[in-house]
Amino acid sequence: MMPCPLDPKVMVVFVDPTELGPTRLDHSHAFAVFGESVDEPFIVVDKRLLELDWFTEDHLMVILAHELAHILCRSENEKLADRIGMMLLRRAGLASAFELHRLEYENRLAAGHYKQAA
Ligand SMILES: [Zn+2]
Repeated sequence: MMPCPLDPKVMVVFVDPTELGPTRLDHSHAFAVFGESVDEPFIVVDKRLLELDWFTEDHLMVILAHELAHILCRSENEKLADRIGMMLLRRAGLASAFELHRLEYENRLAAGHYKQAA
């Protein structure tokens, strides 16, 4: 567990989904826990990502920015979370992570991702 580098009030929990049984990590690398019944929103990340060869610090920051955006906006909207996530990375001065997030966003736009998962 660690504080989110983009917002230390939000904790990040790393879990191995194979130790948990079915969770939302079966469909995603990470998710945010927030809502009226949640006093302290937090982010859950699949810790197996950290061991993948291609996975970098920038990839982690993109994931955290996206999930933090869900929490800050109190919204499940994926397009909004990506747009706010990019702003958070830019505001934090994380240029290479911002660029990675921007490319991901453009790919998702081109693939029609947001129409399926609005
Ligand atoms: Zn999302």
